[in-house]
Amino acid sequence: MSVLDLHTHSTCSDGTLSPEALIAEAARERVDTIALTDHDTVAGLAAAAHAANSVEVNFIPGIEISVTWNGKVVHIVGLHIDRDDPVLQHGLERLAQARRARAEEIGRRLRNAGADVMQEAHRQAGGGMITRTHYARALTRAGHAGNESSAFKRYLAPGRPGYVMGAWATLTEAVGWIRGAGGVAVVAHPLRYRMSRTQLNRLLEEFTAAGGEGIEVITTNATPNRIRDVAQLANRYALAGSVGSDYHGPETAWNRLGHLAPLPQSIRPVWDIWH
Ligand code: AMP
Ligand code: MN
Ligand code: MN
Ligand code: MN
Repeated sequence: MSVLDLHTHSTCSDGTLSPEALIAEAARERVDTIALTDHDTVAGLAAAAHAANSVEVNFIPGIEISVTWNGKVVHIVGLHIDRDDPVLQHGLERLAQARRARAEEIGRRLRNAGADVMQEAHRQAGGGMITRTHYARALTRAGHAGNESSAFKRYLAPGRPGYVMGAWATLTEAVGWIRGAGGVAVVAHPLRYRMSRTQLNRLLEEFTAAGGEGIEVITTNATPNRIRDVAQLANRYALAGSVGSDYHGPETAWNRLGHLAPLPQSIRPVWDIWH
C-alpha cells in the first residue's frame, strides 16, 4: 500500500515547516505521495517540487482556496494544478489582497478589544499568506490566551471580537480556477462545516455542477462512521475520494503527516483522475 497525503500546509500560509522541510518530513515518515495545499497561495510549490526531486517522494502541486458560499466559509482543495496558470494566479492575487485587508481589520478589532497584536501577527506570517492562525499565535505569545485553541475560542471564532469574514472566492470561481489550471477540485474536510445535511447536499450539488470532481473521504480523526458517511456522499454525487491530514507542522501532535486510514474500496481515488 502506498502512503498518500493530499492536504498539507507550509510557512507560505499557516504551516510551521518550510516547503523544503515539509518534503524532508514526508520522506522521514515514508509518505510516497504528498500534495502541498497552502491557503490561497502557490508560493511554496516550486521549492517543494524541487526538494522532492532529490528524495523518494512524489510531489503533487496543490492549493486550498477559501470560498464564501451562502454566507459560510468552505475550503476547496485543488490537486495536480499548473501553478503558472495566469487565471489561477490572477484570482489568487485578489484573495491575497482580501487577506491583507482582512488582517488589518482583525488587528483593529483586537486592539479595540484590548489585544494589540497586529505587528506580531504579521511577524508570525513572515511575509506569507496571513491567516487567523497567525493571530492565534500572536495572541498566545502576548499572553492573551493560554494556547492557539483558546485564542480561537476567545478571539477568532465566528461571533468573537476578532472574527472578520474575508472577501473570498465564489464556489464557481474556485472550481473554475482549479479546472482551468488542469487540476482536480476537491471539497476539503466536508464534516467540519457547521452545515445542516440539506445545506451540505446543496453544496455538493452546486460543486458538482461547477465541475468539482472530488471530496475528502479520509481526514485526520476519521472514524469508521464518518468515513462511511462521506463515502455515501461521494457515491451519491459521483465524486472521487481524496485523503488528506491537513498537516500544519509537528507542533500539532494529533495531526501527523501521512498517518491516515485507507480509502474505502468502493471509492474511486482522486489520483486515478490524473494518472
Ligand atoms: P483563515 O483562513 O484565516 O480564516 O484561517 C483558517 C485557519 O485557522 C484554518 O485553516 C486552521 O488552520 C485554523 N483554525 C481554524 N479554526 C481553528 C481552531 N478552532 N483551532 C485551531 N486552529 C483553527
Ligand atoms: Mn490552516
Ligand atoms: Mn481547511
Ligand atoms: Mn488545510
